[in-house]
Amino acid sequence: MTETLDPRAPIRQRHETRLRLLTVANVTDITPLMRRVRLTGDMENFVSPGHADHIKAFFFPEGVAPKLPPVGPNGAEFAPGERPEMRDYTPRFWNVAEGWIDLDFVLHGDGPAASWAAAAAPGKTLVIGGPRGSIVVPMAYDWYLLVGDETALPAIGRRIEELPEGARVLAIVEVDNPAEEQRFETRAELTLTYLHRSGAPAGTTTLLHDAVAAARFPQGDAYAYIAGESQMSKAVRAHLTEQRGFNPEWVKAAGYWLLGVADAHEPH
Ligand SMILES: Cc1cc2nc3c(=O)[nH]c(=O)nc-3n(C[C@H](O)[C@H](O)[C@H](O)COP(=O)(O)OP(=O)(O)OC[C@H]3O[C@@H](n4cnc5c(N)ncnc54)[C@H](O)[C@@H]3O)c2cc1C
Repeated sequence: MTETLDPRAPIRQRHETRLRLLTVANVTDITPLMRRVRLTGDMENFVSPGHADHIKAFFFPEGVAPKLPPVGPNGAEFAPGERPEMRDYTPRFWNVAEGWIDLDFVLHGDGPAASWAAAAAPGKTLVIGGPRGSIVVPMAYDWYLLVGDETALPAIGRRIEELPEGARVLAIVEVDNPAEEQRFETRAELTLTYLHRSGAPAGTTTLLHDAVAAARFPQGDAYAYIAGESQMSKAVRAHLTEQRGFNPEWVKAAGYWLLGVADAHEPH
């Protein structure tokens, strides 16, 4: 953990990386395109203090049963031909004592993760690792801006739910259609706006950028969290820092996926 004198500076934490072989207990479509998978098993020492934390989920090649690999000095060691695809997912809810975790998967179509989620059923197994680290943003800002597409809804939901009474939060989220909207319980003063792509492919509109550009912001210092398709995230970050006077240190913009590219994610 890095100590800093600025009470507003995000705090970075490292965690023990642990791999877990978990079993699907149940599958719930919380909206038509968002599937919640509850996994059960060894959750000992699981921690996830940051709303934008992620675990790595491992998707093994066809015919290879998920299993815990040996861990060497450079992390997991897989036999040739058994190396899984890895994708990042947000711990949405979990309970260490009861031994479960919920992950919310966007059913976007092709891709090892989305395909796994589309076929998920009780008894199937999944290896997850992490979170390896967290960024905890102090509740010390005048207000909070959350911008994202549906892949960011788990992280945005966590943030909305954890903000304390009196915190002001403006959230702008793009989903396909009204049936994809989620509501969150919060003590904070929340203004949540959903934008609808209405059938346009995800990652192809400028809806989020345009809505942020048109938004009237509250007074005071804000911390902004942007996540979703990479180009969108980059464009919204540039708008906030270059045209709206946001302190770049207080803008976290993450590319959660990149249109047309598999297994792509990056911070901006
Ligand atoms: C820190 C972090 C946390 C994340 N948390 C979540 C989460 O909780 N829930 C969640 O659903 N996603 C989350 N994501 C995004 C998820 O990891 C990516 O969408 C990932 O690419 C999905 O893997 P895949 O195997 O399904 O597709 P890939 O094999 O990676 O990609 C295959 C194709 O699908 C496209 N694609 C990927 N994702 C989408 C999408 N959402 N919509 C449309 N096209 C897409 C790619 O551009 C590519 O053309 C998170 C990403 C990060 C970095």
